[in-house]
Amino acid sequence: MSASTPESSILPTYNRFPVAFERGEGAWLTTTEGTRFLDFGAGIAVAAVGHCHPHIVAALTEQGSKLWHVSNLYHIPQAERLAKRLTDASFADYVFFTNSGAEAMEGAIKTARKYHAANGAPERVELITFDGAFHGRTLATIAAGGNDAYISGFAAPVEGFHRKVPFGDIAAVKAAIGPKTAGILVEPIQGEGGVRVASKVFFQELRVLCDANGILLVMDEVQSGIGRTGKFFAHEHFGITPDIMGIAKGIGGGFPLGAFLTTREAGKGMVAGTHGTTYGGNPLATAVGNAVLDIVLADGFMDEVQQKALKLWQRLAELQDKYPRIISGVRGEGLMLGLCIASGATNADVTLAAREQQMLVIPAGDNVVRLLPPLTIGDEDIQEAFTRLDKACQAVDAKLDAGAKS
Ligand SMILES: *Cc1c(COP(=O)(O)O)cnc(C)c1O
Repeated sequence: MSASTPESSILPTYNRFPVAFERGEGAWLTTTEGTRFLDFGAGIAVAAVGHCHPHIVAALTEQGSKLWHVSNLYHIPQAERLAKRLTDASFADYVFFTNSGAEAMEGAIKTARKYHAANGAPERVELITFDGAFHGRTLATIAAGGNDAYISGFAAPVEGFHRKVPFGDIAAVKAAIGPKTAGILVEPIQGEGGVRVASKVFFQELRVLCDANGILLVMDEVQSGIGRTGKFFAHEHFGITPDIMGIAKGIGGGFPLGAFLTTREAGKGMVAGTHGTTYGGNPLATAVGNAVLDIVLADGFMDEVQQKALKLWQRLAELQDKYPRIISGVRGEGLMLGLCIASGATNADVTLAAREQQMLVIPAGDNVVRLLPPLTIGDEDIQEAFTRLDKACQAVDAKLDAGAKS
């Protein structure tokens, strides 16, 4: 069951919790032993409309009995429709479908570089990236990210990244721009890095810097997109648009699906033959993606997400008041929230204590516990989360007392 059990044949790259789930419904998961867990991780922000939402189950089963895959040698109406809906609802003119977030970011990076090559400036290959950034686990995306441990032992990192610029520091970004700069690659809110936010002004200034220097703004909305922050895309909070953007996670609602989106101008280098994928955008994946959008793009859905987020935030602030030795802050946007754990405790302690209350949360960088419930979460489940987190904090608090006495 867990990767640590000696008989597992799965390459042991993950530290898994010793639990396996059999069923999911909304924000609830049931283990193989029949125990129910409240899921505030949503498979790392993937189950945007909850587990096994009847509408996406219907889309999956209907398409699943018709046609799954044909390859991109042919037209795919489901993909055409999904691309049209994504471009209608965003800054973008074009969409390229992938199967994952890292692939989406690889394509976004290639598109940014090819833009400059098409403009006769092939020396402009470098993307400025940030400390705490996460863009995936392929060779290029680890080279773009802020985590040295992910790079170590995998040969010289892919060239063309100016890494670990302080997130939110516009002067440092300015100083990093040079004759080889192709663009700036940034998450609107850093997910894996610990739900780290930067100011609206910072992002507006990034946009100005890009325009002034003829470079591209590339956003990684793999985690923050598809309604997660209470807007369809998180950059909408800043009143700016990127030139290129990667998405994944929420768009498939649990089916592997990603995409990168681009303006016509930024995508002009990506002509026939420059990029490809066998599976990306297949009829089954894009039928599910369309069903997810039926729910997320429905009138009033984003308002509901914002209202739920407000309720959750209020409850979390109560917990912070009640347990100042454990929670030092709450941050994030919409239903992408982080509990900053005070220095006397760890995010692992709180994650474990929550699990003992049959509640799933996800640790992230910066000693943060991430809360990423399904966007369709109900008020009762928010209340239930509060009750369980309260008990978890109480248990961690009691341990701190026990530790102080011994
Ligand atoms: C999850 C994530 C990725 C990578 O997505 P995979 O599907 O795991 O390849 C990239 N960027 C961000 C911001 C993510 O949260």
